[in-house]
Amino acid sequence: MQKKELIYEGKAKRIYSTDQEACLLMEYKDSLTAFNALKKGQFLGKGELNCKISTLIFAELKKNGVNHHWLETSSGNEMLVQKTTIIPLEVVVRNIMAGSLAKKLGRTEGEVLKQPLVEFYYKDDHLADPFVSDDQITAMGWTDQATLDYLKKEALRINHVLQNMFLKAGLKLVDFKTEFGRNVKSEIILSDEISPDCMRLWDVKTNKKMDKDRFRQDLGEVEESYLEVYERLQKGVS
Ligand code: UDP
Repeated sequence: MQKKELIYEGKAKRIYSTDQEACLLMEYKDSLTAFNALKKGQFLGKGELNCKISTLIFAELKKNGVNHHWLETSSGNEMLVQKTTIIPLEVVVRNIMAGSLAKKLGRTEGEVLKQPLVEFYYKDDHLADPFVSDDQITAMGWTDQATLDYLKKEALRINHVLQNMFLKAGLKLVDFKTEFGRNVKSEIILSDEISPDCMRLWDVKTNKKMDKDRFRQDLGEVEESYLEVYERLQKGVS
């Protein structure tokens, strides 16, 4: 597979076309951003770590029958993925109260929710990705109700697989964000990365934060925590 031109550069990734029409190359960058990119940082090797963590996660999801865009990890910080047209929604799944939900409802972090919660946010950096209801989404024509129902079901299935995978690594999956797109065959598949950049992971025994909140909240040991997540996951799957 040949890497061709850069077609998109985001906060943490670059996407290149390849010599195969239906296939893209996703390169993970060393940068870290938070608060809609108002806070910026990086550490050497972060792109490679996130690529490795995403690879373990995609492999586990595949084993459990979840359809996604990952094809193979071609080098340290690069993976080949199916080309998709992204549905413009961030799909957030929560198991434990934290982040924006805790703030919005005036609750403290750590409360276990009665059941996993799926939420949709409209992908728009200028609007800071606002929360949107099903009716707002269908009224705007971003997608239809049947697709939203499918996304919710699939997000909960992914949550179930990931919760088990992280528990084996001694980590609680607090919440995560993902995205879905349609591939060239029009199938809806999980797209984008899945890494500690877009999820909250707490140590099962100590509740130590092991994800991007260490960067957001200036808790230190960002690099060490990402590395530990990778090492624990690797041990868990081997
Ligand atoms: N998240 C993300 N990208 C975003 C917003 C949220 O990856 O643009 C992730 C975040 O890391 C967390 C989950 O989605 O794991 C829920 O985030 P929340 O709504 O609590 O927002 P936050 O307070 O983290 O901005």
